[in-house]
Amino acid sequence: MAVSILKNALKKTAQAFIDNVSRILSRRKIDDSLKDSLFENLILWDVGVETSQEIIKAFEEKYSSIKEEVEPIEVFKGVLIDFLPDTLNIKFSEKKVSVIIIIGVNGSGKTTLCAKLSKYFEKNNNRKVLLSACDTFRAAAIKQLKIWAERVNVKVIAGEEESDPASIAFDSTKAALSRGYDTLIIDTAGRLHNKENLLRELEKIKRVILKNQDVDIVDIPIVLDATNGVNAILQAEIFTQRIGATSIIITKLDSSFKAGFIFGIEKKLKLPIRFISAGETPDDLIVFDRTEYVKLLFEA
Ligand code: GDP
Ligand code: GDP
Ligand code: MG
Repeated sequence: MAVSILKNALKKTAQAFIDNVSRILSRRKIDDSLKDSLFENLILWDVGVETSQEIIKAFEEKYSSIKEEVEPIEVFKGVLIDFLPDTLNIKFSEKKVSVIIIIGVNGSGKTTLCAKLSKYFEKNNNRKVLLSACDTFRAAAIKQLKIWAERVNVKVIAGEEESDPASIAFDSTKAALSRGYDTLIIDTAGRLHNKENLLRELEKIKRVILKNQDVDIVDIPIVLDATNGVNAILQAEIFTQRIGATSIIITKLDSSFKAGFIFGIEKKLKLPIRFISAGETPDDLIVFDRTEYVKLLFEA
């Protein structure tokens, strides 16, 4: 795991929170004033009111239950880890082709992620990846995916602009099978407005892919832009309910001062966080590991 990527990202974006919390907890006496200061800093980091309250309650309980001498900050780190989801890797299918459909709003980082994920799966999971350009809605989208694919040396199946995304998904699936690819990553259009349309389009994509018996959809990650902070959760709720996302990928952690929103996310969305993207190059992708995350947070 490219720990340095995450470390650099967190250094830029979480420093204020970490500095403040470390200072507050060095007081050691857990009283109302300390809890108020903690709460204020959690909120400023976009943790959200409910989760902030839960974190402080859990911290207080854990700290008071420990008999031996321990630094409050160490207890707090443990509580933060508890509020993050466990790592859960993608399970690739036994079938010939495993399909991953990338969803999320415009600009969240879907197209660049397609390239990052391709590179990651080829390198770490020994997969042979084909990309599918199913964002036929935005004029430059197909070209953008092709440029990224070239950078990571992966092939793309694309159609004409404004053609039916489901038909491209169908062609891509067939191409993956006939050319011996075992993984197909599908880039989709992100439109939060006109949700009904988007929903139907994605359902159609899913349906068309599953027409083929040799194919499985193994993951539908919802891509969340960390710079949106807690608002990203609202978007994700809509996507999860309507489209059936199966995991979360957080992007732009390197430019977000609101990354606290990921605490408590599992309880709200009932989904694991698979990856974190923290930069604009194909290598800036890491598997999410909650213990590592909190450790690096406080090392930053
Ligand atoms: P899409 O509309 O969801 O397909 O999003 P794109 O993949 O086109 O990305 C939108 C913008 O965000 C591009 O300029 C990307 O370079 C940028 N971007 C994507 N991921 C990251 C990231 O992890 N960090 C930073 N700093 N920028 C990112
Ligand atoms: P519909 O357009 O709402 O009826 O949705 P379908 O599930 O029938 O098909 C969606 C798209 O996928 C179509 O526009 C076709 O281009 C493509 N497609 C679906 N099934 C097939 C198939 O069996 N053969 C081919 N060539 N294309 C298909
Ligand atoms: Mg895109």
